[in-house]
Formats: sequence, structure tokens, C-alpha cells
Amino acid sequence: MLAGYAVHVEHSRGRRFPETQHPYRNDFQRDRDRVIHARAFRRLEAKTQVFTRRYSDHFRNRLTHTLEVSQISRTIAGALGLNVDLAEALALVHDIGHPPFGHAGEKALDTAMRRHGLSFDHNLHALRIVGDFEQRYAAFRGLNLTFEVREGIIKHSRDYHAREHPELAEYLLDQRPPLEAQLIDLTDEIAYNTADLDDGYEAHLLSLEEIRGGVPVFDGFYREVAEIYPAAPDKLKFNEALKRMINRLVGDLITNTQTRLQAAGVQTLDDVRRHGERLAAFSPAVGAERRQTKDFLYENLYFSPALADEKDDAERVVGELFAFWMEHPEALPHNYQTKAKEANESLPRVICDYIAGMTDNFIFEQYEKHCGAA
Ligand code: MG
Repeated sequence: MLAGYAVHVEHSRGRRFPETQHPYRNDFQRDRDRVIHARAFRRLEAKTQVFTRRYSDHFRNRLTHTLEVSQISRTIAGALGLNVDLAEALALVHDIGHPPFGHAGEKALDTAMRRHGLSFDHNLHALRIVGDFEQRYAAFRGLNLTFEVREGIIKHSRDYHAREHPELAEYLLDQRPPLEAQLIDLTDEIAYNTADLDDGYEAHLLSLEEIRGGVPVFDGFYREVAEIYPAAPDKLKFNEALKRMINRLVGDLITNTQTRLQAAGVQTLDDVRRHGERLAAFSPAVGAERRQTKDFLYENLYFSPALADEKDDAERVVGELFAFWMEHPEALPHNYQTKAKEANESLPRVICDYIAGMTDNFIFEQYEKHCGAA
């Protein structure tokens, strides 16, 4: 049963190009399936989350991270009486605009664009992918997703202001997004904070002692697990502690959001949209633990010397390729040259779109072809 404050698919504001109803899938289920069948979604498999393939084949990449966000989002949406299909579609699409090389790639692309007075933002890029770049249907460009999915792509992680982004005016920028979209940023964090501890430990970049010393909530669960399973191998105790940590974050997000909805007297989707702030949130205590985990990961993993070389590589590859194509637009694939000439797009934007779509492997190939050995 959907709660009154959930998004009800029959009240969707619909698609840009009206389509007939599918006989046995509703509009949000169709959007979820369109995302899964998109080329940009498949490319997530070869995009770095935190660790490149150099480390191991069983670490998260951006696709498996996305699937973890989707699983956690479905659980939370279901428990809150929200629209699970919409939450799932939003989770699956949430990282589709990410360039190669994780955050280093995003930063490098943004830096290159800023030299031309422009910028790169992965949410805005995702909207261009689903609205234009994906070509699957004869009747229209893009995936023709429902309003609520496009709105969620833009609004799940931050607020955009109409003054700076007049092109986004249709997305009700003065209102909060539905709870299904509000959840995604928080489930994204639950997924990566815990997964990065796991992969960091497996990569031997974080020791058990460091994690226990720097993440007290993990340490508490680890002690609990060690009492129940004293003879279990460390890694299994680690897994059990991490599982409890995920459950604590998920459970807290569910109960605290329920409390906030009740306290605010929220009954309808309109109440959610018009509330002064986002209602999906961790409690202050768990929010503080979450912050502590994040700070630990920044200090000990994301900025660790072990990952620094790959970050430098990412910046060099993106930066040099961008500069190469600015000087040699004739070396771009033909359709991108046409876009720069005819479609009213600036050359930096066309190059940025091209690079942002690339997988880690493909951008290295391009680098070797145009700029010499990586
Ligand atoms: Mg993510």
C-alpha cells in the first residue's frame, strides 16, 4: 500500500512525447527498464567507482555500486510506503552521468571546462543523456522518461536555482523533490561509505585496526560480533560488523524519516513538495556517525598516497585529451564534429559530452592514439 505522501504513478505528470500505456508495466516500471537497456547504463560497468581494475576484479565499479544503491533504495522505499518502482528507477539512473575515473575524472573535466567559462555537472549531464544522447526509439530522441524521473535526476542530491539554471525551470525548482528522490542521495552514501570500507580493507589500504580505531560505530559492532563468533576468521567478523552497520543506517533512515513526516504533519505529496526542507534524513546521532565514517574515508582512503598516482593519471589523460581535441576538432568522430558545427553546441561542450560518456578503457585507448603512451 502506497502512503498518501508517495508518488502515485497514475498522477505522473507524464512524458514529453505521449505514449500509449503498456499492457502490464506501469510508467515508472517502464522508465526503470529503459534505463537498464540504455547504452550509458551498460558503460557504468567499465567506469571506476573508487578502485580501478588494477586492484581486483571483485571490487565495486560504478555499475555494481548502482545496483547496491538500488537494492537499499527499494528496501527503504518499501518500508516507508513510497513508490518502489520510482525509487528503483532513480537509483539505477543516479550515476549515469558520471565520466570515467570516478571523482578525479569529474574534477578534471570540470577544470577543463572552466578554462572556457563553462562547467561540468554529472546530474545535468545525466539529464542530457536520457533526454537526447540515448537513441533507441524511432519516434523521439532520448528515453522519453516521465517527469518524476527527470526531476529526480536533477534534484536528488542538490538544489538548483532558477536564476542560474533557467533551462531547468520546468522541474519545480522552488519545491522539494518527492521522498523517492530525497532518499537517493542518502542511500548512495549508505552504499559507498560501507562498500569503500570493505574494498579498502580488501585492497589492504585500510587495516582492521585503523578502521576499528577511526570508525567507532564499526568497532562497537565488531566487538559484538567477536563475542558471538570468537573463532570466525577476521574477514567474516568484518562482514558481520559491516552488515550491522548497514542495517543501522537503513533502519535509522526509515524510522527518523517517519518521525519527521509525523512531526511535520505530512499527509500528501504536495505537503512533501512544499515543506521548507527535505524530510528524508538520518537522526542526529546516526548522522554524526555517518559523518565520522565519511571523514575517515577521506583522510585514510580517498586521499591516500596509494591512490594518488591513478588520480594524477586521470587528470592528465582527461586534461590532455580535452586540449588535443580543442586544437584538432577534425580528429573528433564525425557525429561530434557535426554537432559542434550545426547543432548550436560549443566545441568545449561537445568534447566534454564525448569524454564524459567514455569508459576508463576507451579513454586510455584514445589517449594512446592521440597523445602517446599513458
Ligand atoms: Mg553514486
